[in-house]
Amino acid sequence: MSECLFCRIVEGDVPADIVLRTDRVVAFRDINPQAPVHVLVIPTSHHANAAEIAAADPALAGELLAAAAQVAEAEGLSGGYRIVLNTGADAGQTVFHVHAHVLGGRDLLWPPG
Ligand code: 5GP
Ligand code: ZN
Repeated sequence: MSECLFCRIVEGDVPADIVLRTDRVVAFRDINPQAPVHVLVIPTSHHANAAEIAAADPALAGELLAAAAQVAEAEGLSGGYRIVLNTGADAGQTVFHVHAHVLGGRDLLWPPG
């Protein structure tokens, strides 16, 4: 069994509220949402962070962004949304399987103005 939490979600060993699944990407709701819509989009293959997936499989990095857009549309975020890729511990990354946070559903506080 995988040591990686998000690989285990891909494998179905850890339950998640999955909103989109293809052979290459999975999207599921964050367990601790920071906005009314907070979905994580991950590749089914293991890459530690955004820099690693961009180097190893740039097409897959693009598919992650396309899936994020598909999730945002399905969630009704027509007015806009935020995609966040925390990359490395100093940026607050806690799960080292690359994941795009898709956040929306209300005015987000940053950037100001
Ligand atoms: P990071 O801080 O690495 O950018 O984001 C990790 C995210 O994963 C956090 O927002 C956290 O709430 C979420 N998370 C951690 N464990 C689980 C889990 O078991 N299930 C789900 N759905 N989300 C999780
Ligand atoms: Zn993994």
